[in-house]
Amino acid sequence: MMKKEELLKIINKLNIKFIRLQFTDILGKIKNLALPAKNLINNLDDGIVFDGSAIDGFARLKEKKMYLKPDYNTFKVLPWRSKRGDRVARLICDVYATEKQPFAGGPRNTLKKVRSRFEELGYTMFVGPEIEFFLFKNGNARAAETLSYDSNSYFDLETTSKGREVRKEIVLVLNQMGFKVKETHHEVAPGQHEISLQDQGVLAAADDIVTAKFVIKSVADQYGLQATFMPKPVYGKTGSGLHLQQSLFKNGKNVFWDERQSLNLSKIAKCYINGLLEHAVGFTAITNPTVNSYKRLVAGYEAPVSTTWSSGSRNSLLRVTTTAGENKKIELRNVDAIANPYLALASILQAGLDGIKKERETSLVKQLPQDLNTALEELKKDEVIQTVLGKYISDKFITAKKIESDVYQTQIHDWELKRYLDMF
Ligand code: GLN
Ligand code: MG
Ligand code: MG
Ligand code: MG
Repeated sequence: MMKKEELLKIINKLNIKFIRLQFTDILGKIKNLALPAKNLINNLDDGIVFDGSAIDGFARLKEKKMYLKPDYNTFKVLPWRSKRGDRVARLICDVYATEKQPFAGGPRNTLKKVRSRFEELGYTMFVGPEIEFFLFKNGNARAAETLSYDSNSYFDLETTSKGREVRKEIVLVLNQMGFKVKETHHEVAPGQHEISLQDQGVLAAADDIVTAKFVIKSVADQYGLQATFMPKPVYGKTGSGLHLQQSLFKNGKNVFWDERQSLNLSKIAKCYINGLLEHAVGFTAITNPTVNSYKRLVAGYEAPVSTTWSSGSRNSLLRVTTTAGENKKIELRNVDAIANPYLALASILQAGLDGIKKERETSLVKQLPQDLNTALEELKKDEVIQTVLGKYISDKFITAKKIESDVYQTQIHDWELKRYLDMF
């Protein structure tokens, strides 16, 4: 835990001129308020006042004045914004409605609440995110198949690709910022990549997903490429997911592991799995929040379509790793990287906790929602997920996403014009 005095020392020592205060809105957009370091220092204790009404998904007219409270542990220098002697850093903030009261519409507050429910039971949840994305030329995803700068595939050793160079630079920048990258490789489709991060406590994992995405986009941009986390940018090619490797620790031991049980899966792990399977249909709107997300969740592309688990299949919703001891993990595979990671992890963890508390032994196999509208209807019906989100976030999220779904539904798409205009 970093103390205020330590932070001030570092800001001074590194000659930080500007600090970006970051937070994430309900829909998962990263927001940012830059302050000269001096101004920030004077306001650290009470929080930095900002106009909440300017933020989509947050307060409207009534709750204008809100506060940002930086989490000192999230201090990071932004290497690509920092010339010698003139550095820019960032801090991730919690949003407060008053000086003392966390704002009900702050997704990071929601995840903290769920985390504390685990802590009360002596549990610490670790999460390792695997971030998939495409790199496109000229920001033109629609022409990706012809414009893609490479023709490589899964784990190919790219000898000539610009993609490899960009990926290497992304990893270097992440390392410079103190991130631990577990693995990085080319993914299945041309121009598709994966960067997986070391497992962390759940809050740090969510913060890292937000930051890594931002780093990936910024570095790619410097190379004239566009990075996108859009779940299914190219028809007929595999989409991009955000697999979440999860493990649960108590007293320094991974409680998902039990040598005496089949697959070395403990009873707690099975209950956790069944909790996730039970609520997956309900939390899909949160983990897969756009109309495009559902074009990824189709058969044939290593993405899940129903609430199944297995120890090997890449088509199941949950995959249990065969690794032993501390490394026993449960991988959730439906999530995509445009989900708000705070809300996604809060929903997932609460689903798992529900399974543990109810000692759930089975769960019926159900089909995952096939479109955003259905997912929203399912979200409304799932009381556990509704409760974890709280009324404020749930209402705002469902209202915004319902509009998105309706606008999409009534749109006339290129495909329809090509198919019907001439034919009839
Ligand atoms: N890209 C696949 C998905 O949509 C996953 C492929 C993989 O990691 N093996 O989830
Ligand atoms: Mg992977
Ligand atoms: Mg992958
Ligand atoms: Mg994976």
